[in-house]
Amino acid sequence: MATAPETQAVTLIDGKAIAARLLETTRAEVEAIVAAHGTAPGLAVVLVGNDPASEVYVGRKIAQCRKAGIRSIEKRLPADTDEGTLLALIDEMNADDAIDGILIQLPLPRGIDASLVLDRISPAKDVDGFHPVNVGRLSSGTGGLVPCTPLGIMMLLDTVISDYRGLNVVVIGKSNIVGKPVSMLLLEREATVTVTHIETRNLPDIARQADVIVAAAGAPHLVRGYWVKPGAVVIDVGITRVTDADGTTRLLGDCATHELSHAAAVTPVPGGVGPMTIACLLSNTVRAARIARDA
Ligand code: NAD
Repeated sequence: MATAPETQAVTLIDGKAIAARLLETTRAEVEAIVAAHGTAPGLAVVLVGNDPASEVYVGRKIAQCRKAGIRSIEKRLPADTDEGTLLALIDEMNADDAIDGILIQLPLPRGIDASLVLDRISPAKDVDGFHPVNVGRLSSGTGGLVPCTPLGIMMLLDTVISDYRGLNVVVIGKSNIVGKPVSMLLLEREATVTVTHIETRNLPDIARQADVIVAAAGAPHLVRGYWVKPGAVVIDVGITRVTDADGTTRLLGDCATHELSHAAAVTPVPGGVGPMTIACLLSNTVRAARIARDA
């Protein structure tokens, strides 16, 4: 009797389920903090203006805070707020013991220098991990608060990889919020990391050498099947909203996932990296709260 060729199904890394578990852990940690100190960790969410996408993101973050038992402190400012007013608010929040984490929803209205604003947040309350002190700590491997999306990516990878030593990882995209910090985290685990970007030559050839690909370009279906070697792990960070001819909208990742049946594991879009980002924001808030209370 002829035997069917052996086929190995690709593992779909379920970001939703992993984020739900992280949220449960965070909730338990919040309860422990309340039991020990009497108050729940507090996250201040600052929204300047009324950008519709930002409204949605802020709404989601506040809803998740509630689920985890974290106090959310909403600070809404009009679009014509000047830089000085925003900086003064940050100073106030830095000095407020009831606030453990500060999140400034980006983008900020024109006329406000985002880097000046982010640099003003106390590094101890910088739950987005964007402050230069935290960026420096990440690069030198000396702790600090780590940006949420890269942290979430590592948690997803940890479900399928236990030892990163010597693995070839290709990161596509070199942004400060995803590409660069995730590269630092992977280097800390002793992976061999190649960071690529829009000017990289022969990207498909480079990607084909990878044991792990982290695609964070914001270029829908950039990573095709022939870019990926059999057995590779592929993390799709990209999210691009596209509108079809009939007016329906869809979210597309950076990877043509339907062409990746030869990969070992992939993350779906949506339901992969996305849910991890908010879950990691809450876990960073609890971490900041624990450090502040134990200090
Ligand atoms: P960015 O625009 O700041 O950076 C994109 C990077 O990709 C740049 O370094 C650019 O050189 C590179 N790039 C762009 N097109 C490329 C191409 N064709 N080939 C090779 N490199 C290319 O973007 P970002 O803020 O890092 O976000 C990247 C994507 O990840 C976006 O789709 C964004 O929506 C998504 N994202 C998702 C989450 C999440 O929670 N799931 C969080 C952050 C970003």
